Amino acid sequence: MILMMLGAQGTGKGTVAGILSTELGIPQVSTGDIFRKNISEGTALGIEANKYISKGDLVPDEITVPMLESRLKEEDAKNGAILDGFPRTIEQAQKLDEMLNKMGKRVDLVVNLVTPKEEIIDRMLTRRVCTNQECKTTYNTKLHPPKVEGICDKCGAPLKQREDDSDPEAIKRRLDIYEEKTSPLVNFYEEKGILQTETVSTAVNRMGADVARDLVEKLK
Ligand code: AMP
Repeated sequence: MILMMLGAQGTGKGTVAGILSTELGIPQVSTGDIFRKNISEGTALGIEANKYISKGDLVPDEITVPMLESRLKEEDAKNGAILDGFPRTIEQAQKLDEMLNKMGKRVDLVVNLVTPKEEIIDRMLTRRVCTNQECKTTYNTKLHPPKVEGICDKCGAPLKQREDDSDPEAIKRRLDIYEEKTSPLVNFYEEKGILQTETVSTAVNRMGADVARDLVEKLK
């Protein structure tokens, strides 16, 4: 089963994908996480990708698409995956269809998370992530703080703010790119009849964990 998370930054895609991954037993495949792992390990891919990521730009397809393809071919993804952060453009979505087609798979469900813009910016500024690359749990200093400030509840590693979350220019650039290049994917998947849109907002008292719980019930 191939599931896909769609939605702007800070809507909770990673949170929902993480819960679905644990509950459904298929890996969360986050292109952003793979890039960040490469950056922290100082690989050639990481150094190249960081030139774009630090500014809030998209990493070119020549780097991103083969990276995603080889991840989807790994053993743990043979029964499916939860895509988080890929595709980000119609072109990437078409390349994904070709790739999955060759593997005898297809996208089964696209979960589109929608959150009011003011809430999104606030969430990006208050997001903290676990520095342990094997854990990567996400917190929010206001909505979902760790039990001990700055320390991951799950593994005890220090938490940090993502570099691209601390720079207001990079945040704005990422949201603009989402509007321009990624949001057309909503229609793309709606026309295929596989889109499920969910509002995630404190205003309606529905957060990522609530969406994930309902999805697990539907998919299990
Ligand atoms: P994310 O963790 O999904 O917010 O991704 C962090 C950054 O990684 C993005 O702002 C992009 O610079 C880069 N990135 C992640 N996924 C992709 C993708 N599918 N295509 C191009 N760049 C990506």
